[in-house]
Amino acid sequence: QCELLNVYQLLEASSQKRPDKEAVYDRTRRLTYAELLQETDRIAAALDAKGIKQGDRVGVSLPNWHETVAIYFAVAKIGAILVPFNTKYRLHEAQHIIKDSGIKLLFVSAEFDEQVGVESVAPLVQGVVSVRFDKEGIISLESLIEQAGNHVPALVEIDPVRDVFCVLYTSGTTGFPKGAMLTHRGMVWSGRTIGESIHSSPEDVYLIPAPLFHIFGMGINLFAAISMQSKIVLMDVYKAKEALELIQQEKVTVHHAVPTMYILELNHPDFASYDLSSLRTGVVGGAPCPAETIRAIKEKMRMNICNSFGMSEIGSLTITAYQDTEKNIHETIGKAIPGAEAKIVNDSREPVPFGEVGEIACRSFGVMKGYYNNPEQTSQVIDQDGWFYTGDLGVMQPDGYIRFVGRKKEMIIRGGYNIYPGEIEEILYQHPKVLQAAVIGLPDPVMGEIACAVIKLKADEQSSNEEMLAYVKQHLADYKVPKQVVFTESLPATASGKIQKLKLKEAILKQASH
Ligand code: ATP
Ligand code: MG
Repeated sequence: QCELLNVYQLLEASSQKRPDKEAVYDRTRRLTYAELLQETDRIAAALDAKGIKQGDRVGVSLPNWHETVAIYFAVAKIGAILVPFNTKYRLHEAQHIIKDSGIKLLFVSAEFDEQVGVESVAPLVQGVVSVRFDKEGIISLESLIEQAGNHVPALVEIDPVRDVFCVLYTSGTTGFPKGAMLTHRGMVWSGRTIGESIHSSPEDVYLIPAPLFHIFGMGINLFAAISMQSKIVLMDVYKAKEALELIQQEKVTVHHAVPTMYILELNHPDFASYDLSSLRTGVVGGAPCPAETIRAIKEKMRMNICNSFGMSEIGSLTITAYQDTEKNIHETIGKAIPGAEAKIVNDSREPVPFGEVGEIACRSFGVMKGYYNNPEQTSQVIDQDGWFYTGDLGVMQPDGYIRFVGRKKEMIIRGGYNIYPGEIEEILYQHPKVLQAAVIGLPDPVMGEIACAVIKLKADEQSSNEEMLAYVKQHLADYKVPKQVVFTESLPATASGKIQKLKLKEAILKQASH
């Protein structure tokens, strides 16, 4: 199925096949595959010289830069464990991750120093390395590399099936992030399978708008592209206008993104002035994508779009077929990718019949070994036979395609009736004035819970509760119509652009209590 490989060998193989092909552009530098491999090898040597051993944790809090990519592969080469984490974290969050995963060496940017402060984390680790900035008392990446001289460490022997490549923290959409231990084989398999699913080739140019510390940026973007010898265009900070500029300038062919990014790009006032004709395909995932948005992507970006479901804990699980039917792309997340199995189960974890709502469970090479340092939580989500329970609800169709219903935790139970927020959001997104919508459950003394719709309108639009509710009423049963509408200027989102409903709910409850 998937020959055994260290993640580093993905880059090595691509560099051997096409050394002179451009591999990465990050708005400061362009590197060929041979140059990227060379930089990776020099960093691997520096890590080795610094005393980093197989199994040691190396933390990386960096934007999407070419150095970030090289560090990832360098860590893999020496068999150390990569711990990438969110560049937006503040002290409390960064400390949690550094302590939780036991980071030995930490790579940081100036942004980290401003937000967290190198001094506050230095006592927790053996060393801090600054990338693209200098600071007294800490060593910069250049000097670290210089100190190592011409030394070249050999590729260490690892077991790709069992050895952990990376402890990847979940997005923290529903609570505190958990560290998923992902294996070398899982990542290699996930990246390649996605690359193959979208018919990728060395001619492709991938835009990477999602952060590399997130499964979407890392697995679906970076590893898919590198394994296909494609070129990657990195964005360090996501801005819709810059994404559009880069697509035009670099003639991007593959545009993977979370729904919010497509929504922002499509609604950008200058959208029509960009030449996006190079776009060939893209994968949308990370959060439910409104059918309306998929329609707009196909129509206005004129590209083929696939929907894919994945998680930090499992990599990619499903994808719609390349050039699938409109119905499948609008209504489903596709079917299990080659090498993965999926099923839908009830609360007792027994399979439910086709057409019934249940929890999505899966088994594949990509399933994590467990949550780092947390056997208890691990045993709650992985059973003895290796099935992982996602906490997401779905419906299996007889053809193996899965309809995504929503997160189990976000389901609203109103007077005994189940309400799935996604169904209401889907309707709201069809309203021409709505830019973004999120439906959450609020406590209610009579009904237990009621639905509340939080809406961000498109620029210069005005609306009312009545207008929105009347619209939902036209399309859905009365009990599903939200009791309340809140208009807002901004919705809280994770670094990868997902709406944080828990935060939103807390904010609305706080507002109501005042
Ligand atoms: P946390 O686990 O910390 O609360 P998170 O679940 O958002 O955060 P990720 O691992 O980044 O962290 O996201 C996985 C989740 O994203 C899935 O469980 C699912 O709810 C959602 N998701 C991913 N892909 C899709 C998709 N194609 N359609 C709908 N939802 C998706
Ligand atoms: Mg999760």
